[in-house]
Amino acid sequence: MSKETLGRREVLKRALTVVGSVALLPAIGACGGGEEGLSCTDTAGLSPADVATRTSNAYVDHSQFSDKNCLNCQFYQAGASNQCGTCTVVRGPINPEGYCNLWAAKQS
Ligand code: SF4
Repeated sequence: MSKETLGRREVLKRALTVVGSVALLPAIGACGGGEEGLSCTDTAGLSPADVATRTSNAYVDHSQFSDKNCLNCQFYQAGASNQCGTCTVVRGPINPEGYCNLWAAKQS
């Protein structure tokens, strides 16, 4: 076996590993459950003022904080399973994984 052939085999092996890993990503996401694929960004039907409230408070669909999100915010009101919820201060669909500058810890 030549050195060149071994190199090609190694390249092919690594390429197949990468392809296999990429192919498994959706399955891993599905197994993870949660609200990963949930999008709560549709602001159609909201008034310009309500859209402005979302924007000015920097609402995002996925919080950048590991310990702060809409789900543990006192203003969040859960929707049905794997559905957007609502918020008592920010109108429109709210992702439980979302966040905005009005976040306040849920009282327990
Ligand atoms: S106030 Fe902000 S962080 Fe809290 S639930 Fe509403 S949108 Fe989410």
